[in-house]
Amino acid sequence: MTKHSGRCLCGDVTYSFDGEPAGVDYCHCDSCRRNCSAPVTAFIEVPREKFAFTRSQPKVYESSSGIRRLFCGNCGSPVAYDGDWDTANIHLYLVALDNPEAFAPNKHVFAGEQLSWFTMNDHLPKYAGSSTNAEPMKEDQ
Ligand SMILES: [Zn+2]
Ligand SMILES: [Zn+2]
Repeated sequence: MTKHSGRCLCGDVTYSFDGEPAGVDYCHCDSCRRNCSAPVTAFIEVPREKFAFTRSQPKVYESSSGIRRLFCGNCGSPVAYDGDWDTANIHLYLVALDNPEAFAPNKHVFAGEQLSWFTMNDHLPKYAGSSTNAEPMKEDQ
């Protein structure tokens, strides 16, 4: 099985995983935007039992109850989202992978919070909030 790895900007925090991701998506929510200082971020959701940090452990910031943002204590790079609601998977910031081309997002979540000046014409399904038990928005929204 293919082993994948990733790291923060300085390389203090590294990780690896194998197996198939549970999901790959863009998140437009306000919290992820602020966490990354970026108009959108992309996640890959990886089974926790197939995942390990392989060098320094990240620092942890609890951004809301039961939601932790993991980041490098040295360079400050966001590394992962860790939520109590998803006991099966850790959510890694996709573009911190050593090969960010290995996986491509296939949907947008929290598109209801998307910045008005930020447009993407990829025609992937958009969900107003979480995609869990939800229907995508209509194409022209
Ligand atoms: Zn770092
Ligand atoms: Zn988000």
